[in-house]
Amino acid sequence: MDVFESLTGEYEQIVYGHNPDTGLRTIIAIHSTALGPGLGGTRFYPFPSEEAALRDVLRLSKGMAYKNAAAGLDLGGGKAVIIGDPATDKTPDLLRAYGRVVDRLGGAYVTTADVGTNSADMVFIAETTKHVTGTPDASGDPSPNTAYGVWSGMRAIAERLWDEPSMKGKRVAVQGVGKVGAELARLLADEGAVVAVADIDAVAAGKLAAELGADVLDAADVLAAECDVLAPCALGAVVNDASLPRFRCRAIAGAANNQLERPEHGEALRTAGILYAPDYVINAGGVISVAGEVMGYGADEARARAAKIADTLRDVFGEADAQGVSPALTADVLAERRVRSAERTFGGPGGSR
Ligand code: NAD
Repeated sequence: MDVFESLTGEYEQIVYGHNPDTGLRTIIAIHSTALGPGLGGTRFYPFPSEEAALRDVLRLSKGMAYKNAAAGLDLGGGKAVIIGDPATDKTPDLLRAYGRVVDRLGGAYVTTADVGTNSADMVFIAETTKHVTGTPDASGDPSPNTAYGVWSGMRAIAERLWDEPSMKGKRVAVQGVGKVGAELARLLADEGAVVAVADIDAVAAGKLAAELGADVLDAADVLAAECDVLAPCALGAVVNDASLPRFRCRAIAGAANNQLERPEHGEALRTAGILYAPDYVINAGGVISVAGEVMGYGADEARARAAKIADTLRDVFGEADAQGVSPALTADVLAERRVRSAERTFGGPGGSR
């Protein structure tokens, strides 16, 4: 078996951790530490196979490398998965055992919460490693800063499409009114945007709509809503072969991760004349908030950095136009460029900072 094949020439390190007493099975992937420690969350999920878990952790750690680089953070990309059902398999002892695996990496990987883990879990992990962020007494819930970053990023959209840095009077359809979507809807409504919301939780959507005086859209139809900006704040893969012909929006800009089902859907949006804010650029407010614990800044600086997402998007849209390619592709190129320039400065893969 070629064990290095899974590194595909791109990743610095993959670590497998096992603890028979607690049932821990974890994989940690570090994409790059050229810019700094690899920061990314721990996903606790009942993967159907070990191969599926490996595939996911590789994809997600690379995604974090791009997200952190594009956000201007001096952080690399890392991610971890724990194979199991968080509802039944997650115990304090397992989390402590996992913390010991993280600790042995000496800070090359710094963890935080992700799907299946939360800030209370980070407290157990923090008992066995200091390389953890997002405990309740630290930077706190990143969602408000994520929403603020998306709202800020919409300035760049409004300038591009309407020559004005405001969403006042623009129609925005928000898909998903959870932690990020609800806060985003509030910020937009405060600004005078015409907000409509949709959620599979009809009660949550109705409650928020009443608070804001917003319309409620059917969750099954929100992607086809006639609007200026569609803000996906629920699931990934909302841009796909089936949804593309249904879009009735001028732009797509929201918090959801991995909005494009396949990379070529970025170009398909450009062809359709829909301006797309690359997801990992516009939703970086959350990681910017958590990163303050590693980089040594607080909530005010996190907010100021989230506001700069608009500048990054201006650069992305400008360069995409100049090159005649999609913003999605341009964001990747800009992120790769930043990682590569750090590799030259710090000596390349291997984390020689
Ligand atoms: P959340 O779980 O609090 O909210 C998600 C909401 O979407 C829920 O209300 C859920 O009922 C709704 N939903 C699920 N499926 C839906 C559907 N088909 N149609 C309409 N609504 C649906 O999650 P969140 O923290 O608000 O995150 C939202 C998205 O943003 C996720 O994709 C997440 O990965 C991404 N994201 C979140 C953060 C953060 O700081 N929380 C940071 C970066 C990216």
